[in-house]
Amino acid sequence: MSWHDAGTFLAAYARARRVDRLTSTSRLEALQSRWLQQFLRQVTAESPFYRGLRQVPFGEWPVMTKSSWMAQFDTINTLGAPLAEVSRIALEAERTRDFRASWRGITVGLSTGTSGSRGIFLVSGRERAQWAGTLLAKLLRGGLASRERVAFVFRAGGPLYDTVGALRVTFRFFDQSRRWTDLCEEVRVFAPTVLVAPARTLRLLGETESRLRPKRVISVAEVLDDLDRAALERRFGVPIEQIYQATEGLLGISCEHGTIHLNEPFLLVEREWQDAAHSRFVPIVTDLWRRSQPVIRYRLNDVLRLRATPCPCGRAATALEAVDGRLDDVLWLRGTNGTDVPVFPDLLTRLIVRTVAPLEDFELAEHERGAWVIRLRPTVAGADARHLVDECTRLARSLGAEPPSIELEEMALVPASGKQRRVRGAPTCVS
Ligand SMILES: [Zn+2]
Repeated sequence: MSWHDAGTFLAAYARARRVDRLTSTSRLEALQSRWLQQFLRQVTAESPFYRGLRQVPFGEWPVMTKSSWMAQFDTINTLGAPLAEVSRIALEAERTRDFRASWRGITVGLSTGTSGSRGIFLVSGRERAQWAGTLLAKLLRGGLASRERVAFVFRAGGPLYDTVGALRVTFRFFDQSRRWTDLCEEVRVFAPTVLVAPARTLRLLGETESRLRPKRVISVAEVLDDLDRAALERRFGVPIEQIYQATEGLLGISCEHGTIHLNEPFLLVEREWQDAAHSRFVPIVTDLWRRSQPVIRYRLNDVLRLRATPCPCGRAATALEAVDGRLDDVLWLRGTNGTDVPVFPDLLTRLIVRTVAPLEDFELAEHERGAWVIRLRPTVAGADARHLVDECTRLARSLGAEPPSIELEEMALVPASGKQRRVRGAPTCVS
């Protein structure tokens, strides 16, 4: 990290510390709207794509999906980076696992979506320093003077999560795609006090390295469901926290009460409601601090559930009950009144965890609309199998839908590689 970036890091850290405790919604919104005005002035000056929208009210700006955002890559980014050129760099970095490669000093990251759609991300040194400053401000309750050793085990994109040799805190990135035994060994030797990794990686690390005793365990980048949460809490003996992070940026993080708060006011989050009760929404995100490749009205492929009651910490930033999963993984059943009925992944996860015991692991895949395969380890038979099918039928009926056909299978032991989801929609059902 250069001296200049170190200055940015500290400024971002101080700013995030200051606003993290905002308890007044009106003050949070005032700050957000001031930052938004600033951001829009910059972006309409620097981004060819947004220049033409200067006179258009923000609420009428196009909502982007990953594919439309990629299609406009060359004109959205403010650096004049051509997609063809940076894609080559990103693919080469992915192939060689050498993430130091950059385009004119700008880090190039790659993300792969559920349907295989590829996203390319540009992050400047300044933005990376800002990300690290903001994250550590929220993560380290004892501040930068605490002697925490933070291990961040993640699938790819090294430089996005660079080493921050900041003061007494040691922050280290481990590439999850390395050989598993080497990775375990390195993490054990590092002896993290704060361990951050995707839920399934945490489980495997916990099983492989019995001497690993972090004080805090934080799940990142995958949905943390009840099954993993219970197993992790048993293994590590601490409540499991969460960082809601995507290549698009830091989206949210658990507070000291275990509630995930959205990363407001750094983000502006519009809500696309998924149910009549307004409890679940798909977030449309504007990152007010990202300028190389502006993230504006970007629709994430996630379903978030609002917390019904205020969080005891009093933060004004939106409190979530959970990140329920991907929009692609919402299953659809034929409704008894002819309309399609959504079945959210968390409902199925909770049903299976509640109904099947003992249960080590499971996955539910949708073959086609209304046809599900549930794989369980250990598998169930006889009355237990009937009980599970009955519960699924009952859930469908309570949602006003025709019950699905269900096949039960034994789940194979597979090593965790990359992102995994327990409930998966059929690729053909993804709109
Ligand atoms: Zn809270």
